[in-house]
Amino acid sequence: METYKEGWEKFRNFVRFDVGSGSNISFWQDRWCGDGSLKQCFPALFTIVRNKDALVADNLVVHNGVILWNVLFTRQIQDWEMDMVLSFFDQLYSTSIRQGESDRLVWNPSKKGFFEVRSFYDELIKEDGPYFPWKNIWRVKAPTRVAFFVWSAALGKILTHDNLRKRNVIVMEWCCLCQKSGESIDHLLLHCEVSRALWSYILILFGVEWVMPRMVLELLKSWGAAMGSGQAIVAWRLAPLCLLWCIWRERNARLFEDIETSMVELRKRLIDTLYFWIAPHHSSIVFTYVDFLNLFSVRP
Ligand SMILES: [Zn+2]
Repeated sequence: METYKEGWEKFRNFVRFDVGSGSNISFWQDRWCGDGSLKQCFPALFTIVRNKDALVADNLVVHNGVILWNVLFTRQIQDWEMDMVLSFFDQLYSTSIRQGESDRLVWNPSKKGFFEVRSFYDELIKEDGPYFPWKNIWRVKAPTRVAFFVWSAALGKILTHDNLRKRNVIVMEWCCLCQKSGESIDHLLLHCEVSRALWSYILILFGVEWVMPRMVLELLKSWGAAMGSGQAIVAWRLAPLCLLWCIWRERNARLFEDIETSMVELRKRLIDTLYFWIAPHHSSIVFTYVDFLNLFSVRP
């Protein structure tokens, strides 16, 4: 058995996998994504990953035909690790997955396979590819903890009441923003009357008419398309993360501290937070609050 294992370790260097179901491929050890195994390419991430023996299938989620990667770490990613995490996900999402097919072993010395990967990369760049909208979360200039929150929300993993109930935690039935419907992620962040009012406010500011999708994931997927001109795009791309974050903070303040913020103040907080995130990254030397307000079609 040991000899077989040793032989496989050598053989492994010459083969790579084309991913189908992913149930026969080791996520970290096999070559299936990029030029080496993920363990070789991202040793630092490998040390903090929760499941070192995961199969590709364990980390791959297909949600309404959308492919997303759900890799869990033993702790939060720090700001200084962000570049590494970005290229990690870049690599994952640039690898094609043949949904509904079985895994295929490819003899590597023939380079032909790589051209295939490149051509799939082009598909990725298209806005409506079957992929998780990770760039809309990680490539915008939101604070790391916010990107993590939105990422978790899109994966359906934040601790709303319905998720707590699944873990058998006893909770109240209602949403603490509207005191009506049960709290699910999509209700709380998109469809609750409080959240909806904030979404319409931001859409009016940008002069955009838009139909609210059913789910957070769909929202992030469809938000990507550029709008407006120049600097307004930066604000537009950050807006959904900022809004989701403000709703989540307000929900926690109401739930855990019994503090309620009025709609007028919530709108102001949303705009202020957006400015606060954008200003340090802005290319011009002085980017004042007034410059910022001028980005909008309608004055906040
Ligand atoms: Zn509600």
